[in-house]
Amino acid sequence: MNKNDSERIESIFQSMNMISTDKPEDADVILMNSCSIRESAEDRIYSFSHKFAKLKEKKPNLIVAVTGCMPGRDKDGKLRKRLKAVDLFFPTKDVIMLPRWLSELNPELRPIDLEEDYLSVKPYTKTKFQAFVTLQTGCNQFCTYCVVPYARGMEINRPLKNILAEVKNLVDNGCLEITLLGQIVNHWLAKKDDKFSKENPYKQNDFAKLLWELNQIERLERIHWTAPHPIYMDEEVIDALTLPKQLNFIHLPVQSGNNKILKKMNRKHTHELYLEKIKKIREKKPDIAIGTDIIVGFCDETEEDFTDTISLYQECDFDISYTAKYSNRSGTLADKLFIDNVTQDEKKRRWFLLQQLMEDIVLRKNQTYLNKNVSVLVDTFKNGMCGGNSREMKRINFPGQPDLVGKIVNVAIIEAGHWILWGKMV
Ligand code: SF4
Repeated sequence: MNKNDSERIESIFQSMNMISTDKPEDADVILMNSCSIRESAEDRIYSFSHKFAKLKEKKPNLIVAVTGCMPGRDKDGKLRKRLKAVDLFFPTKDVIMLPRWLSELNPELRPIDLEEDYLSVKPYTKTKFQAFVTLQTGCNQFCTYCVVPYARGMEINRPLKNILAEVKNLVDNGCLEITLLGQIVNHWLAKKDDKFSKENPYKQNDFAKLLWELNQIERLERIHWTAPHPIYMDEEVIDALTLPKQLNFIHLPVQSGNNKILKKMNRKHTHELYLEKIKKIREKKPDIAIGTDIIVGFCDETEEDFTDTISLYQECDFDISYTAKYSNRSGTLADKLFIDNVTQDEKKRRWFLLQQLMEDIVLRKNQTYLNKNVSVLVDTFKNGMCGGNSREMKRINFPGQPDLVGKIVNVAIIEAGHWILWGKMV
């Protein structure tokens, strides 16, 4: 999501006739798009702003700005106080004000008129064949560990016609693969006056209806979305996984396998409900690759509670997990209600156990691709090797040429590692 916001910011800068530089000392404006999901991400902003404060001593006209999740969640101004050298500190939704504020600070920077809604700003994408498309921002769920509802506010969904227009425009410019983004992407809701096609087979779930509409766009080859919530994985969304352009991969965050912890997290699903969703998904698409997010060491998580997460992991046979050691985020419900009482060493130990389990499972699963052909969207070329993702979001490397970048090719798998599969083009 932040990456897609950065693409919008880059497009605003370009409209102001500004060009990017890799060297901070050459810049007139430095804008940091912050993430608050973990403490370490915010620590990086403090450390960069300290560095840029020194730069400002040598170059007083330099404008340093921070947007993203930190300003959004800083209701009491404590974070802002620690960022002394920062001139502008504003939440993402106010990014449309950026040209005006910049030109007030430096009259040489030309202000431009923007739409009122930041999601209407067209993102600048470096690669033409892949793009993010934001469907919604904000979240109404209030999982107790999470800063998103504070940082990004309540859920706001984009109208169907804006989404379809954006995707059609991307496809006209050569886009083959879109990644639909939303905090709870499968909870995207249409507006009252949004009109779906009469032939659309889905009747209940707006997100499933949207997936069907996107599947009708000619020359669009692949559709991927992240991140859904298990409670909104209803029959229609699960059925939509079988639509032809849908990638053969789903990332479905679970966070914990223990019902007491899930309740404390306010996740609104249980161990059993999650397993039931995975079972239904595999009934529809037996070979689908599945990823998840897990937090270890949440408040009061005992060894026995953690065992439930291990057993759920084994039962789901995940292809990948993004596992995080719980870190308390100020302002969240968990910060107010619970004590972060699992030691760092214990969090680390649980993290390593899950990591080991993931590595064992993923290697076994990757070996099932040996001697099979997979379809790969090539996105890199380096030292004679092409790289890209398969429809299962497996990373594939194979010998090729630079002109394959941006094309979809078939690759026969000849070697399988944990994180990369090697093959040859067929
Ligand atoms: S669903 Fe929960 S974890 Fe996801 S963004 Fe909303 S509050 Fe955060």
